[in-house]
Amino acid sequence: MVFLTFYGGVKEIGGNKILIEDKDTKIFLDFGISFSRRAMFFEEFLTPRVANGIGDFLEMGLLPDIKGVYREDLLKHLGREPEEREVDAVLLSHAHADHANYISFLHKDIPIYCSEITKSVLEAIEEQSQRDIENEILNFKERPLFRKDYNKQPIERKFIVFKNKEKYKIGSLEIIPFYVDHSIPGASAFIIYTSEGAIAYTGDFRLHGTNANYTQEFIDFASKEKPIALIMEGTNIKRKEENLSSEKIVYEKALEAVRNVKEALIVDFNFKDVDRFKTFFKIAKDVERKMVISFRHACFLERYHKHKELEVPSIEDENIAIFKPKLGTGTYSDEDYIGYKFIKNRLNYKNIITSEEIRNNQRKYMVVLNFYSFNNLIDIKPNVGSVYIHSLSEAINEEMEISEKRMNNWLKHFNLTKYQIHCSGHASENDLVDVIRKVNPSMLFPIHTEHPGFFSRMKIECKSKIVKEKVKYKLNS
Ligand SMILES: [Zn+2]
Ligand SMILES: [Zn+2]
Repeated sequence: MVFLTFYGGVKEIGGNKILIEDKDTKIFLDFGISFSRRAMFFEEFLTPRVANGIGDFLEMGLLPDIKGVYREDLLKHLGREPEEREVDAVLLSHAHADHANYISFLHKDIPIYCSEITKSVLEAIEEQSQRDIENEILNFKERPLFRKDYNKQPIERKFIVFKNKEKYKIGSLEIIPFYVDHSIPGASAFIIYTSEGAIAYTGDFRLHGTNANYTQEFIDFASKEKPIALIMEGTNIKRKEENLSSEKIVYEKALEAVRNVKEALIVDFNFKDVDRFKTFFKIAKDVERKMVISFRHACFLERYHKHKELEVPSIEDENIAIFKPKLGTGTYSDEDYIGYKFIKNRLNYKNIITSEEIRNNQRKYMVVLNFYSFNNLIDIKPNVGSVYIHSLSEAINEEMEISEKRMNNWLKHFNLTKYQIHCSGHASENDLVDVIRKVNPSMLFPIHTEHPGFFSRMKIECKSKIVKEKVKYKLNS
């Protein structure tokens, strides 16, 4: 008998934690953070206490209370005995936090399966992040009850990387991973062969991106396997269509917006999105500007460059410059960067520039500047006629709206003309319906959506479950 239990991703976008049980084998599909639930109880200055191990996370429903899943050191803080692991593996679909981050809490002996590129993205994220209990994915530092037991060496988690379409076995399950197109490279979907039949899991995916052919291959394959269950993301159900378009349209609109700009050009996009990087890198070349990236971005670019198939330029490319931020004394001396390993290790690069260079040569650069680095605008001093392109999703909740207001204040202060140009990382409503019809599973489990009920009202052949959290669904062939 095969069972599915959803511990996250239910009536919310992200937080996927899906348990598959088949005979003695148990695996999780993703183990992500649920941002919406976390925001129900916590904010910037009110956070789950590390001193309580996973206690605060369990109490407030951020983690499910399941046996044989969690780190021994964190259980001890709750006065519980350490447990043997009872889950065989986690299949990680991609490196976005809402799928990956709560791996941080998992038992050290649970192996994580992911694509090589996903592993590289996780390494890039780790290199430029402050360690905290919610992002200890690749390795973690034990938190013993007594200081004398403190061990400085982090414990490495076991990661097993798979290749596209290469079958592997976990216990009684056989799994074929398929690359799919999403707003992060290395994203994968899975076909999981159980004793009752095949289960298809989409992870996050889309059909309007640069690599839609990957997604198409997965769907074609899934449709042949006549799955007993399709677990599908539905982010864009009942969402505004204008956000969708395609990467090609992003390129065309952005090029149009910047073609005649004679002053500073500031762009903001998520650097994990390699397609968006390539779009703007191409535009920078088209309008004869160098792309200026941050040291944080460099952590990603260098790793992406190593994966030849991503076709990403080297950090030393003549069209790339790296922005050196003012830290410490503000004099750009090497000592200012001691606490920032990811910067310190790169201070010998040849193509480093400062805001003074950009201020004096505004026409020469396209600066990738994320909102949280907007204070650098004070040094860059964009001239009148400068442009800012926001190539990220629009505000979808109250907190984002507050940030957006703040951002607009900065733009107004510096007279920057704003353009909103973006396409979604998730499949459109129409594409989702097509996928369901084509794959035609015995049962549909829509997740990663705020509107799961919408699927039940659709004109589709298969039955759609309105998934309930922590309910064990039995699957039959
Ligand atoms: Zn997601
Ligand atoms: Zn995602």
